Amino acid sequence: MTKRIFRSILLVSVLVFLVGVTFMIGILYQHFGQQLEKELQNELTYLSIAVENDGTSVLENLPEQAERITLVAADGTVLFDNRANASEMDNHAGREEIAKALESGTGTAVRYSDTLGEKTVYLAQQLSDGTVLRVSSTQYSIVTLLLNLLQPLIWIFILALALSGAFAYRASKKIVAPLNKLDLEHPDKNESYDELAPLLTKINRQQNTIRHQLAEAKRQQEEFALIMQHMNEGLLVIDAKTQLLFSNPSAYRMLGTDNEQQVKSVLELNRSEPFRLVVDGALNGKHEETMLQLESGTCQLVADPVIQDDGVKGAVLLLIDVTEKAQRENLRREFTANVSHELKTPLTSISGFAEILQDGMVRPEDVRKFAGRIFDEAQRLITLVSDVIKISQLDEGALPYEKEDVDLYLLAQEILERLKPQAEKNNISLRLEGEPTVLHSTKPILDEVLYNLCDNAVKYNRKGGSVTVCVKQDYDKIIVMVSDTGIGIPPADRQRIFERFYRVDKSHSKEIGGTGLGLSIVKHGASYLGAEVKVESTVGAGTTFTLSWEK
Ligand code: ADP
Repeated sequence: MTKRIFRSILLVSVLVFLVGVTFMIGILYQHFGQQLEKELQNELTYLSIAVENDGTSVLENLPEQAERITLVAADGTVLFDNRANASEMDNHAGREEIAKALESGTGTAVRYSDTLGEKTVYLAQQLSDGTVLRVSSTQYSIVTLLLNLLQPLIWIFILALALSGAFAYRASKKIVAPLNKLDLEHPDKNESYDELAPLLTKINRQQNTIRHQLAEAKRQQEEFALIMQHMNEGLLVIDAKTQLLFSNPSAYRMLGTDNEQQVKSVLELNRSEPFRLVVDGALNGKHEETMLQLESGTCQLVADPVIQDDGVKGAVLLLIDVTEKAQRENLRREFTANVSHELKTPLTSISGFAEILQDGMVRPEDVRKFAGRIFDEAQRLITLVSDVIKISQLDEGALPYEKEDVDLYLLAQEILERLKPQAEKNNISLRLEGEPTVLHSTKPILDEVLYNLCDNAVKYNRKGGSVTVCVKQDYDKIIVMVSDTGIGIPPADRQRIFERFYRVDKSHSKEIGGTGLGLSIVKHGASYLGAEVKVESTVGAGTTFTLSWEK
C-alpha cells in the first residue's frame, strides 16, 4: 500500500509538472509572439516616419543588429533590403503582407520555415510615395523553443522528481502508519481515521459472527465426536478407493483391530469374503447387508453407497453388535427343540398305553393301573405346557396383572399350606419364620416364584428333612429365604440350574415330576419383580435360595 500511495503521489506530481510546463511554455510563446509583433509595429512606425521625413538614406545607416527591413516599390520591385542584395531579389508584389499594404495601407503575414523550426512575422506599411516599407523578424517555433529549453527543463524536472519523490515517500509513510498500527483483533478499540470507522465496525461485527459460528461449529464437532466415541455401533466411512475417511472406536473394537493409525484401506480391517463383498457392493451403488462372525461375537454389517453428482463417491458402513440377539435366537431355537422333545416323551407313553388298552391286551384288573399311568403322563404334559406358557408370558412381558400390597409372610404361609400334603409324604417339616412384610408387587408372579422355590425345597429334600421360609427386612432390604436340608447342588451346576430344561440329575428330576423350567421361571419372575436371586448350597447338607428387594 505504501508503494501504491508513493507511486500515485509521484505520478500526480510528474503529471502536474508536465502539464504546468506545457501551459507555461504555451503562454510564454504566445506572450513573446505578441511582444515581438508590438515591437515590430513600433519599429515600422518609427522607420516610416523617418523615411517619410528624411528619405531612404535613413535605411542606409541602419545598425547591424536591426531587424530585416525591406523597401518595395508599388510594382513590387525590391528597392532596398538590409540583409540581401535588392537587385537580386524577385518581385514582391505577390507577398501577402505587401499585397495587403498596397491594397489597404498596412499588411501582416506570418510564414513558417520549411523545417517548422522558425516562423517569420512580416509587417508592411505603405508610405505616402506609394512604396511599401516592410519589417520582419524571425521567432523560434514552440518546438524549437522547447528544444532550446530542454536542458534547464530536464534539470528542473529531475529536481521536481526528487522533491516530489521525497514528499511522496514521507506522505505515503505517514498515511500508512496509522493503518499499520490498526489492531484488527479488537477493531472497536482503534482510534484511526474517521473514514475507517464504518469499515472497522463492519470488521468487528463480522469477527463476532465468525467467533459465534466457530464456537457453534466447534460445539457441533465435539458433540459429533462424543456421539461417535460413545455409540455402540461401529461406523466406517470410506472413499471410492476403499480408503478409510472416518471411523469410530466401536468399529475397531468390534473388528478386533487396535492399530487405528496404520489402517489405510477398510479391507485391512477384516479380510473375510463377506466383508469384501459388502464393501464392493456398496461401492457399486447397492445397499448391502450381511452377518459377520467375529471374535467379539456376531455383528450385522450394513453398507450404503454415498452418491454424489450421479457417481459413487464412497460408502458408509455400519456395524451392529447382534451377539445377544443371535444368542437369544439360539436359545429360542434350543427351547423349541427342548419343548418338542419334552412333550414327545409323555405323549409317546400315553399313546403306547392307549394302544395296548385298545388292542385289549390288558387284563381287566390292570386297566386301572394303565389308566393311572396315562393320567400321570397327561398331568406331566399339563404341568409342562403350563410352565412353557408361564415362561413365554414372562419372556414377552405381556402379563395382565396389576400391582398390589402383598404380605410376603402371609403368601409364604399359603404356599407352605399348599405343599403340606407333598411334604408329609416324605416326612418333611415346613417352617415359617420372620414377620409380616408388605411389598407392593404383582401377586401371581410372586406366588409363582416363591412356590417354585418351596416346591423344589420339598422335592430335592431328604426324607425327614425340613424346609424353612424366612421373611424379614432390614433397613434397606426385604428378604425372603427358602432353605432346605436336601441333597444340595454341586458348585459346577449352580450357575446353570436357572437355564431352561437344565437339571442336575435328569432322571431323578423327571421321577419327582420336574419339568426343568421351575428355576427358569424363578429367574425371569424375579427379574420382572425387580428382585435379586442368590443361591448357596452344600452338597448333601442343603440349599438356600434368597430373594431380595432393595427398599
Ligand atoms: P425341575 O423342574 O427339574 O425341578 P428346576 O428348574 O426347578 O427344574 O430346577 C433345575 C434343577 O436344579 C433341578 O433339576 C435340580 O437338579 C436342581 N435344584 C433345584 N432346586 C434345588 C434344591 N432346592 N436342592 C437341590 N437341587 C435343586
